[in-house]
Amino acid sequence: MKQIISRVTKQPTVLVADDAPEIVLIISKILEKEGYLVLKSYNGEECIALAFANKPDIILLDIMMPDIDGFKICNHLKNDSKTQDIPIIFITSKVDIKDKIQGLNKGAIDYITKPFNSEEFLARVKSHMRAKLMQDELRETNGILQEYLRTATLANNYFESITRLVNLDEVMSFTQRYFAEIFEDVVRFSVWLCAEQSDQFILKVGTSADLNKEAPTIRVEDSPIMKRAFEKKEVIVENNFKLSELYNAKAGERYSDAKFMCLPLIVEGNVLAIVNLTSKKDGTDFSIYDQQKALSVCQILANKIENCQLYKKIEKLSITDSLTNLFNRQFLDTRLAKEFARVVRSNETFTIIMADIDHFKNINDTYGHQKGDIALKQFADILVHNIREADFAARYGGEEFVVTLPSTKLNGGVNLAEKIRLSVEENLFIEAEGEKHPITVSLGVATYHNGNFENQEGLLKAADEALYKAKQTGRNKVCYHEDCGD
Ligand code: GH3
Ligand code: MG
Ligand code: MG
Repeated sequence: MKQIISRVTKQPTVLVADDAPEIVLIISKILEKEGYLVLKSYNGEECIALAFANKPDIILLDIMMPDIDGFKICNHLKNDSKTQDIPIIFITSKVDIKDKIQGLNKGAIDYITKPFNSEEFLARVKSHMRAKLMQDELRETNGILQEYLRTATLANNYFESITRLVNLDEVMSFTQRYFAEIFEDVVRFSVWLCAEQSDQFILKVGTSADLNKEAPTIRVEDSPIMKRAFEKKEVIVENNFKLSELYNAKAGERYSDAKFMCLPLIVEGNVLAIVNLTSKKDGTDFSIYDQQKALSVCQILANKIENCQLYKKIEKLSITDSLTNLFNRQFLDTRLAKEFARVVRSNETFTIIMADIDHFKNINDTYGHQKGDIALKQFADILVHNIREADFAARYGGEEFVVTLPSTKLNGGVNLAEKIRLSVEENLFIEAEGEKHPITVSLGVATYHNGNFENQEGLLKAADEALYKAKQTGRNKVCYHEDCGD
């Protein structure tokens, strides 16, 4: 909870306004003996100025004063939100009942008639003081509860907005929006993702000005405070960052007088990201309450990041062949269907290569299945090294592979196939008993152009027929299908 210490530690304060100095003196003596702080004023103007400057807990106000009378002062203070909650007690020598009613109507809480009995006077002031302090405390608690409610509602909306998302970038764009609201009391916020297998944090979300200025990555070593949060897996709060041992003058010049809260986002002991909150707009320190609020919101994000990363891994697993790390047959089929539809629409040329390792059964039989597996992996590496970004290679089945080449004519496909064939001939061997046994591959090429095939199956079949021809006519060679242009 936010500290409710302000009321307890502040000395109860009474402002006395009376143009008769002896009255002010008597009242002051009674109240100071009781431990109150007494502010003294001898005319209306002074009274108003002191009321605004010091926000006393109670004002004792004379009705008859030479410059502004007590009713007007009361009116003035009751009409301003800064002073309207201060209880006013009129002190009056008048016994006229009408004055008393007028005073109460203007918003005064009580009246005391001069001359007064000091014990009764003190008892009344004390009772009003008790009520006033209790009201202050209630108001403060109410403010905190309202802030809790606001944060809880926002956090709940944030959670609901991202709950069905599986894409991390989309999650981050919602986070950007919600964090701006949830942390509207801080000067800057940022979310840094911990890069897998690297010593960097990557900026994903930040106060808009920072997103443009800030480097998109920071080395763990360059931010001692983020490094500490990452390694110790604990929230770090520095309310005087410049004096902290974690302050890095080189990296942190912009944060010179900032207050810093650094929160690691942890799921099952792993730090997935770091959230930085820098300074509060009202200049106050980060409190336990700020920390709790940030933690509860950050946990929502932490779980979501883990979720998205898991989803991505599963998605990758479901489209990848585990032995060669190439795309699998299932993904090839889907991708090929989409790609074929696209090239038909845009009337592009599209080439595929089908490759099959020669006498692979013999290789397995002679050197063992394990060596065969290694050869398959090495063959996949050769494919990957030879293709361009837009191309992709998939394992079609056992020792058969397919490479797709968008916007490539037959000639280009044949050239690439020949390059692959040569590279295999020169580089792919089974090593057994200190000897290198060469492996070769046969390849068939087919090209879609001008509607020569009706669908992707037709194109695949053509490449397979070309491959069959290569096998039939000696292996370790490239053949292409007729009717595929040049
Ligand atoms: P060809 O030159 O006509 O292609 O002869 P081949 O022996 O390569 O062709 P065939 O289709 O008769 O045999 C393919 C072999 O590939 C049979 C199978 O055991 C082997 N194979 C398929 N998948 C794997 C695998 O994942 N690992 C290993 N080591 N061998 C595999
Ligand atoms: Mg085969
Ligand atoms: Mg084969």
